[in-house]
Amino acid sequence: MTECKRCLLLESAGENTLADIRKRIEKLSDEEKTPEEIYQKRLSECKNCDFLISGVCMKCGCYVEFRAAFKKMKCPNANNRRW
Ligand code: SF4
Repeated sequence: MTECKRCLLLESAGENTLADIRKRIEKLSDEEKTPEEIYQKRLSECKNCDFLISGVCMKCGCYVEFRAAFKKMKCPNANNRRW
């Protein structure tokens, strides 16, 4: 995988990593899961953030597509929270 600044996993990861994350997201309950519209807004914010590298947030080390799927999670950048 080449380093891709401001790329989501969707654009940069191997199929296995993305499929694994999608499976994990599917297992979340409705109470845990971020509604789709909000999820997509969160990912848009990440895509415009300098801390996103190859699908990983450099502030927390999480795959943003996974972190953003949890309703209760917040952007980890306390100084400039985008979501
Ligand atoms: S700092 Fe926030 S907006 Fe930026 S990549 Fe991380 S989670 Fe996304």
